[in-house]
Amino acid sequence: MDNADRASTLENDARERAIAKHHTKTGISSLYCRFCEELIPEARRKLLVTDLCVDCAMIEEKRNRI
Ligand SMILES: [Zn+2]
Repeated sequence: MDNADRASTLENDARERAIAKHHTKTGISSLYCRFCEELIPEARRKLLVTDLCVDCAMIEEKRNRI
């Protein structure tokens, strides 16, 4: 393996790691609310897997109860 090969391999590794990191970050919960498209606070996204903001989750919860 010459230097050019090694460089491109390192580049690929870094890219794959970045993609994997991105996936774990966004794979847990949606970044934006499914209904109002507001940004869901990070604390909420870490706390539970959701694709709704606090307000829409409450509306959805009430609707599910009926
Ligand atoms: Zn919402």
